[in-house]
Amino acid sequence: MTTTAPPRMLTGDRPTGRLHLGHYVGSIANRRALQHSYQSYFIIADLHMLTTKNTREDIARSAGNARDMVLDSLAAGLEPDLAVFYLQSAIPEVMELNTLFQNLVTVPRLERVPSLKEMARDAGKEEMPYGLLGYPVLQAADILCVKAHAVPVGKDNAAHVEIAREIARRFNHLYGETFPVPELISAEVPSLVGTDGQAKMSKSIGNAIYLSDSPDEVRRKVRGMYTDPKRVRADVPGTVAGNPVFVYHDAFNPDTAEVDDLKERYRTGRVGDVEVKTKLADAINAFLDPMRERRARFEGEPGLVERLVVEGTERTREVVRQTVGEVRAAMGLDAV
Ligand code: ATP
Ligand code: MG
Repeated sequence: MTTTAPPRMLTGDRPTGRLHLGHYVGSIANRRALQHSYQSYFIIADLHMLTTKNTREDIARSAGNARDMVLDSLAAGLEPDLAVFYLQSAIPEVMELNTLFQNLVTVPRLERVPSLKEMARDAGKEEMPYGLLGYPVLQAADILCVKAHAVPVGKDNAAHVEIAREIARRFNHLYGETFPVPELISAEVPSLVGTDGQAKMSKSIGNAIYLSDSPDEVRRKVRGMYTDPKRVRADVPGTVAGNPVFVYHDAFNPDTAEVDDLKERYRTGRVGDVEVKTKLADAINAFLDPMRERRARFEGEPGLVERLVVEGTERTREVVRQTVGEVRAAMGLDAV
């Protein structure tokens, strides 16, 4: 009897802070759903962090952030006996793949990646590091080093997966069939707006509700949320479409009858913001409660997170070593 290996999934986060509701809807919900049918690798992308945060202080903070991220992931439903967490910088073979892949994509192609434009705008064009241009190439090395078939990420990351697909095809074309062409797994809410209603929820902007926020923090953040600015009083008809409080109701409140009723009364000026927000905070807290329970359970197991990362990194490194061996052989680099 032959057993076929399960397909592989790769995704992860930069260790720049805790996980928030945007991460959940954009990626973690899919990570959770797919973990039973895919061998799942979760990268702690500290080399990617260096493209925008590379002081000694940033690096010193990343260890604690990585720990929080793994704990948040477990709290959010990833199973410790299924998930493989690993630290990107502890696998030097990934950097080797990055070097080899750099020649399989053109500079103009990388310059067209939309997230680069945003990041370059933030940094200022003259200040843009070379590593930022190469961000998607390094990400392709992450995805292909474990020969991933599936990559569940949010919208801001979709163009990077496209580059990884192009690099996989280009490599296979030049050197022979080596990599599966990875599929983007996109989310039901590919980009969740922040509590400010202005930009996508992001740990760097201060517009995030964290999976680890207490019930009181959630209530306080929801109370301060941006709504329809034209609606100065409860009896003024308001706009529902694109209104962050209703975007969140749709994403996190399973009581669709309650949500429909609130929307109807909001449109016709028959409900105050306080009621809409109180019900939203209750819904988000009900959504986070099971995560709070799981977090408390995993926090009670001392050394669990450290063990998962150490063992996961060793396991991943084995897989990556094998991939790099195949890559060198396919390219003829092992001839000497
Ligand atoms: P940073 O501000 O440091 O860039 P971030 O909050 O944008 O952090 P990342 O680590 O860049 O988070 O993203 C991790 C994953 O979560 C990616 O797959 C990304 O697409 C997804 N993601 C991040 N923010 C959102 C969001 N607001 N909505 C949907 N998906 C998101
Ligand atoms: Mg980001």
